[in-house]
Amino acid sequence: MRLLLILVIIILGIGGYLAVKPPSEDKQPIAEEISISILPDKIEQGDPVLIQIHGTTTAKSLKVNDKELKTFIHDGKLSALVGLDLRSKSGSLPMVLTLNDGRIITSRLAVGERYIAKAPLGIPEKLGGDTPEAERELINTLVEEGKLISAVPTEDEKLWEGEFRLPIDEPITITDTYGYSRLTGASSISHKGTDFRAAVGTPVYAMNFGKIVFNRFLRNYGNTIIIDHGLGLHTIYMHLSEIGVPLGADVDKGEEIGKTGDTGYVLGPHLHLSIRIGGISIDPEIFMEIIGLRVLKSAE
Ligand SMILES: [Zn+2]
Repeated sequence: MRLLLILVIIILGIGGYLAVKPPSEDKQPIAEEISISILPDKIEQGDPVLIQIHGTTTAKSLKVNDKELKTFIHDGKLSALVGLDLRSKSGSLPMVLTLNDGRIITSRLAVGERYIAKAPLGIPEKLGGDTPEAERELINTLVEEGKLISAVPTEDEKLWEGEFRLPIDEPITITDTYGYSRLTGASSISHKGTDFRAAVGTPVYAMNFGKIVFNRFLRNYGNTIIIDHGLGLHTIYMHLSEIGVPLGADVDKGEEIGKTGDTGYVLGPHLHLSIRIGGISIDPEIFMEIIGLRVLKSAE
């Protein structure tokens, strides 16, 4: 289990703070301690990262690698999510927090290399079998479907509340993890999601509050539902046998949105779950650890 790691406690610009300190804050300590915690404690390519600021609930900006993050309150703390692409470079990313009073706190996100397992590509007979033509068709249509999925909108406010629940009921069996590569003749296809074992017809639940921004059949992904949770966060449910919610509907956490199936590019029935942060598909298992029920259970 990845545990909370307090990365930095840095207090800068005490003089400047004293100069701008409003009179109403006379009872406050001269300079409050601002600290930043980061989950997971060991970050790899393809991971979601939860940054939390302690000591203030507002800030002017928070940037990672020069990109400004959308902040929100989670667990009472000023927070932000970062999605690291599976194929992003490993190394250290600069993080800059600018407080409302102008103080700047800097730190770094250390991103380790993810081990990428390789698996052969198996194209099901219904999509043409293992032939070069079927491979080409698969790659081309995956690109097209990827564009459709990337084009979904997001609200400029946080729609989700609290922790995320799992998309199907326990007990959970994960049959394929995030990140491995399926090799084809010319290129490789990364598995950018988590597969859950599920017989056809198993109820699928919204992992949190949000809005249905996509609900249609795709050749490879099958019947697909995308929920926008706001601030660029999307959960994506694929290969469904049934879509049970209309486009544009608001959904509650735990509301049934459809049933699992074996539509699209599958070798057997399962639920494929993808989670995107700012358009980047991250590892749903790590997401559940840092912002899902599994954190609650193990954090006690
Ligand atoms: Zn999958």
